[in-house]
Amino acid sequence: MNPHVSHPALLQKYLELPQGDKIQAEYIWIDADGGLRCKTMTLPGPVKSVDELKEWNFDGSSTGQAEGHNSDVFLRPAAIFKDPFRRGDNILVIAETYNNDGTPNKYNHRYQCAKTMEAAKSHDPWFGLEQEYTIFGSDGRPYGWPVGGFPGPQGPYYCGVGAGKVYARDMIEAHYRACLYAGVTISGINAEVMPSQWEFQVGPCPGKDMGDHLWMARFLLIRIAEEWGITVSFHPKPLEGDWNGAGCHTNYSTTGTRAEGGMKVIEEMIEKLSKRHAEHIEVYGTDNDLRLSGRHETAHIGAFSSGVANRGCSIRIPKSVAAEGKGYFEDRRPASNIDPYQVCNAMVESTLLI
Ligand code: ADP
Ligand code: MN
Ligand code: MN
Ligand code: MN
Ligand code: MN
Repeated sequence: MNPHVSHPALLQKYLELPQGDKIQAEYIWIDADGGLRCKTMTLPGPVKSVDELKEWNFDGSSTGQAEGHNSDVFLRPAAIFKDPFRRGDNILVIAETYNNDGTPNKYNHRYQCAKTMEAAKSHDPWFGLEQEYTIFGSDGRPYGWPVGGFPGPQGPYYCGVGAGKVYARDMIEAHYRACLYAGVTISGINAEVMPSQWEFQVGPCPGKDMGDHLWMARFLLIRIAEEWGITVSFHPKPLEGDWNGAGCHTNYSTTGTRAEGGMKVIEEMIEKLSKRHAEHIEVYGTDNDLRLSGRHETAHIGAFSSGVANRGCSIRIPKSVAAEGKGYFEDRRPASNIDPYQVCNAMVESTLLI
């Protein structure tokens, strides 16, 4: 642990001080770079629902979200989670961003996602996202990699056990437990193919909740990594060479795909998706062309394909789903740096609303 970053033992005695009737609400929002920002407000007492929370604002010219001469951006509380750092009745709040004139901020993709999910609610869309990411040490190298060299080639690291095969398992465990405590619907974790690359899965979550839960899981990860002196990268191809990129596979189902005969509905949806490949790639992450090379378990960015149990396709139908004849399918195209609100929005638009 980097002693210049954090003094958890010193902090502990202060966190044990009673805080009176007051609670702390950490407002969290998405900035112009797809990063996260946060600031804290003291509230007079515990709250049960998001409607009890006040609208707030911040200086948008400091986050690339507004011009200097008209820089207030408003924070509208959207979802509440328990705060694993301050504990007790303290909360974490996902907030939507709005401009001075009341229109949604350019980086507020939750707004459109919520509208789309409302329009499609009779289909009850569910999502499960597999968030891959890479961790870096304070020296800017992938965390734990040998100084002045490289680890051995890919092979032993995916779901690995043992020294030299996995790095920072303590930090990953801390994140998993913090997600459970906060109320994030995290469904699992695994070490990835490239050393120092990990994955967590969130879902299934209905509609816009998917974005809320994934963004909260990302916030917890970045915030916990801060204590370890670790930087989290969501770049889809953090290292050139024979190292896997990082994606955010998007698993998707509706009442139609989950019901008897769902396989036919899945096939119809895949047909619709094949016609809108370019529109989807548009919102499937920056620099995704570096990752979707047709190698390293990806399909090439220039062509749409689908198949059962095939990890080299754009869309994969899990073997168990094909066997049962119903369930869900996986869009393997989204990169690790997507905004999940945009991806879920595109998925529902293309399969249900067009
Ligand atoms: P993979 O084999 O691709 O690595 P994972 O186990 O990592 O798969 O992730 C599978 C994801 O699928 C999980 O996030 C899970 O929540 C999600 N999932 C499971 N069932 C459904 C469903 N019916 N609809 C949407 N997502 C689902
Ligand atoms: Mn100030
Ligand atoms: Mn996975
Ligand atoms: Mn994976
Ligand atoms: Mn997957």
